[in-house]
Amino acid sequence: MIHFDRVAKRYSNGFEALKSVSFDIAAGEMVFLTGHSGAGKSTLLKLIMAMEQPSRGQVLVNGSNLNRLADRHIPLHRRQIGVVFQNHQLLFDRSVFDNVALPLVIAGFPPSDVGRRVRAALDKVGLLHKEARNPLELSGGEQQRVGIARAVVNKPKILLADEPTGNLDPELSAEIMELFRQFNEVGVTLLIASHDIELLRRQQKRVLALREGELLSDQVPTALHSDG
Ligand code: ADP
Ligand code: ADP
Repeated sequence: MIHFDRVAKRYSNGFEALKSVSFDIAAGEMVFLTGHSGAGKSTLLKLIMAMEQPSRGQVLVNGSNLNRLADRHIPLHRRQIGVVFQNHQLLFDRSVFDNVALPLVIAGFPPSDVGRRVRAALDKVGLLHKEARNPLELSGGEQQRVGIARAVVNKPKILLADEPTGNLDPELSAEIMELFRQFNEVGVTLLIASHDIELLRRQQKRVLALREGELLSDQVPTALHSDG
């Protein structure tokens, strides 16, 4: 579903954020992406979203080579990818419902469809009863769940998340991970950037580790130590 073949990314200031990175993520996998701040995690996610272009190598997403993606096909490409951000980027002058509806409205879904799909997405994250609220009235964990509902409302094949639990305590982080697992169980392919090593160990999923733009390792973490 996501294929990187010797991908390098050099920014216009000459900085090489990724250096010959190769990996494959199959449809239906749930994979973590880790590494210190500056390792290249966001750059890698931006390449998948076609927000940046590789300087060398190939990125294939669901069979299309992004080097050959025409500009007019970029919106269609992005519609198969849901994105969850650390700061969730919710609009605080609109209701929870309207925040989740936004991608559908932009994509031109008819209003009757919008209501049905928004409520289905809010139901999946357990926030159906809060659709009329302003996101400001919700807790941090609830706000992040609204962000997830908005990311999945289109029923994307791929869900990307950039430090989705960065502002949450361990208990709320575990709830968010449980939600991601539920989406994974119904076939969504997930790639989740996180530098929370303990969280990654607990999940026991494949981890791609970046260091200074290079893929350092690609494996499932070994079992937790008894003290850990
Ligand atoms: P470009 O498409 O030319 O890279 P950007 O708007 O992304 O344009 O950035 C303009 C310049 O600002 C970059 O070339 C770089 O020098 C700097 N810059 C932007 N974002 C970052 C960042 N996250 N880290 C370091 N430098 C950055
Ligand atoms: P991470 O998400 O792992 O923190 P990033 O992909 O954001 O890493 O950044 C990797 C490196 O690339 C950093 O050194 C960052 O400053 C640099 N960088 C990111 N965006 C730009 C840009 N637009 N222009 C120049 N350098 C950038």
